[in-house]
Amino acid sequence: MITSPAFNGKRYAILGLARSGLAAAEALLASGAQITAWDRQDVAREKLEGRAEIADPLDIDLTGFDGVVVSPGVPLNTHPIAEYAAKFGVPIIGDIELFALARDNLPPHKVVGITGTNGKSTTTALVDHILKTAGVPSLMGGNIGIPIMEQDPLPSGGTYVLELSSYQIDLTQSLACDVAILLNVTPDHLDRYSGFEAYAASKERLLTMQDGGWAVVGTDDDTSRVIADRRAVQLLRISGRELPKKLRGLPLLQGPHNWQNIAAARSAAGYLGLNEPMIEAAIKTFKGLPHRMEVIREHNGVLFINDSKATNQASTAPALAAFPPAPDARIHWIVGGLAKEDGLGECADQLGNVAAAYTIGEAGPRFEELLDGKVPVRNCELLCDATRRAVEAAKPGDIILLSPACASFDQFRDYERRGEHFRQIVDMLTDHEGDAAA
Ligand code: ADP
Repeated sequence: MITSPAFNGKRYAILGLARSGLAAAEALLASGAQITAWDRQDVAREKLEGRAEIADPLDIDLTGFDGVVVSPGVPLNTHPIAEYAAKFGVPIIGDIELFALARDNLPPHKVVGITGTNGKSTTTALVDHILKTAGVPSLMGGNIGIPIMEQDPLPSGGTYVLELSSYQIDLTQSLACDVAILLNVTPDHLDRYSGFEAYAASKERLLTMQDGGWAVVGTDDDTSRVIADRRAVQLLRISGRELPKKLRGLPLLQGPHNWQNIAAARSAAGYLGLNEPMIEAAIKTFKGLPHRMEVIREHNGVLFINDSKATNQASTAPALAAFPPAPDARIHWIVGGLAKEDGLGECADQLGNVAAAYTIGEAGPRFEELLDGKVPVRNCELLCDATRRAVEAAKPGDIILLSPACASFDQFRDYERRGEHFRQIVDMLTDHEGDAAA
């Protein structure tokens, strides 16, 4: 765990005791801080009983507190805690800010912070993989894997690679990244912001918090280009379109969106002092992440791809663009769930390679309506029906792609469950077919 004398004798309130909140509580306690902790679930509170004061920060006098540590899941735009803490002049922070405050006492290190609407996890894992392959001690934290305060500090010369959602950036005031990567900014999470501009401003703060260091900004969308233009110094502009050919078409980093991720990771690694042949060799051994353009099986010449993590149109559009027609349209596209936006967005321009669409979930009927007349479409409601119909229709050389462009919460607990369910259905359908053929 990461501890720091910076917290000794300080007082913090903690709201939300899921994994990162609990890790923050443990790190603060081990550092000698006094804490008042709260979660609406009693099982979560029990873990700290006897070691922390258990009370809702909204019900106590916050005078003298050094901060309220809030979980990124708490919507600051509607939850009363922001206004309440402000009355006492107490900052609202998150576990990433605690990490930032602890940095002075960590062995000499670097921090790479990665944000963007899409591609954060992939790029984070890729940067971490490149560093590890080159023998640099590194770890991933933030919005991915184990909470940062729960992890053991790196030895001298290490690099912390942090995936940062806009919610986490909103709770961070002093993280000066050595390399700050902004991949892209397109509409998402608008329920948590007053509008798109506020969401984009949240992302840009990763750069404005820097104090020296380099910013790596993707310039494939207008908003990111404007952000790049505002940055005068130490800026590396990257574009997926400019990635050298030899780094495109890697089987585990398919699609133009991954070119952007590769370009960003490559620039960051270059800035961190690694040489190009080493970086390229490492990129080629990256295994990819589950649920992101994940190839789950090839059966009778049909490729099954699980892109369940694509929960908005900006992440599905490049998935549709990842496989050129050969010569006919080849993609059997499973789309739908809980829509975040209306319309087809960027997907409208990528229908050329869609052989047929199979819609599911709450947004199924709407997608059926939107796609009608553009591609053959059928509303299937359930993922199992959609997959079955796609398997029946697909010819060798085709691709069955789950890239829903929607959140999963109408039918699944999260995108991981949706992806796992898809994998099980594929296993069942293809084994079954195999049996029949035998
Ligand atoms: P995040 O952590 O930002 O949600 P992920 O790496 O988990 O990003 O990818 C989420 C989804 O977005 C996946 O469907 C993936 O294929 C797609 N994606 C990945 N990188 C990009 C990118 N640079 N631009 C657009 N979509 C992307």
